[in-house]
Amino acid sequence: MTTKELDNKYVLPTYARADVEFVSGKNARLFDVNGKEYIDFTSGIAVVSVGHGNERLSNALCAQIKNVVHMSNLYYIAPQARAAEKLVKASGYDMKCFFGNSGAEANEGAIKIARKYGEKDGQVKKYKIITLDHSFHGRTITTVKATGQESMHNYFGPFPDGFVYAKNIDEIESLVDDHTVAVMIELVQGEGGVQPQDKEKVQALAKFLKSKDILLIVDEVQTGVYRTGKFLASNLYEIEPDIVSLAKGVGGGVPVGVVMTTLKDIFGAGDHGSTFGGNYLSTTAVCEVMDILDEYVSSGNLEISMLFFDKALEKFYNAHKNIFTEKVGLGMMCGLRVKDADTLAKIINSARENGVMVLKAGRNTLRLLPPLTITKEEIDEGFKRLNIAVSGL
Ligand code: PLP
Repeated sequence: MTTKELDNKYVLPTYARADVEFVSGKNARLFDVNGKEYIDFTSGIAVVSVGHGNERLSNALCAQIKNVVHMSNLYYIAPQARAAEKLVKASGYDMKCFFGNSGAEANEGAIKIARKYGEKDGQVKKYKIITLDHSFHGRTITTVKATGQESMHNYFGPFPDGFVYAKNIDEIESLVDDHTVAVMIELVQGEGGVQPQDKEKVQALAKFLKSKDILLIVDEVQTGVYRTGKFLASNLYEIEPDIVSLAKGVGGGVPVGVVMTTLKDIFGAGDHGSTFGGNYLSTTAVCEVMDILDEYVSSGNLEISMLFFDKALEKFYNAHKNIFTEKVGLGMMCGLRVKDADTLAKIINSARENGVMVLKAGRNTLRLLPPLTITKEEIDEGFKRLNIAVSGL
């Protein structure tokens, strides 16, 4: 049976898959079973931060695989401790880390930290968490409920209590009450449509929350790990969150989720845990990804690539204003709003047929999330193909 036939027979149909099967990759290039080459402007939805087939990452993983892949968290794990040090130092915040395996899990950890904080005085229990409309925080029962999209709450109830949705940042203050323990936001809404928040409004919100002893949770699952240019979008926005969640790019493709917090004493032994979280394999990936990106950033190469990508996107946008209305995003988390939402699927399909992978976000946004290590030549080639793809529509 082909992969497609096996998948159709044995895998639950939760994804609307395109009919492509990749078999190999090198940095921002992918090859399918028929040998066709693609430029990857998606990096597996912001995951493959250091590119496909990264030699340094695969060497580090192979060396670790030949040694110890996993031991339980009942013992000290050297790469976990080193990964935590690297993440905390890169963040610039005085935090500690907990390692899980996905973005949803990282957000579950964030919610648990907040809920425990809300019980600290044994007085009025604070448990409510305000999130934003059009947000996306994950697919577990709790993070589905935390997600401010009604369509995601159609089934699966009853959900945990205590999530309140604000239309936008401006509305948050008016929704705060005695039970509010935290506000959770993405600084650039990813799934919601590559929508950056206004910096001044975010700073004012952070100040307000501090004054009310309400925690600020920043979901950096998509924005984190240099996606917007700085290690965290929170660094770019010059705020000091109490809790940050990370996943996607932090393992370069190896499943890792991390929740980081300034509340270093919030959990004691047994309050939270994960069998796989922080194991030898996944945190070796984190260490190597962080080392690769640290060098890439300090040599100035990330900034150069981001500027080059931005210019190419601008040129593409200017050439196709009949299709697109606005260029959006920050750094290498960017996209274009389409005039007519119906053309979006056509653009994505035509792009794929012409050898360049792109994504949808929200209802009407073409989303681009290339590997951070994408080269100028790969950027030029990708936009050349994208030009052909939209010109034929
Ligand atoms: N939070 C944000 C901002 C995301 O973009 C995502 C995934 O797209 C998640 C959380 C959930 O991450 P995961 O799919 O790894 O559970």
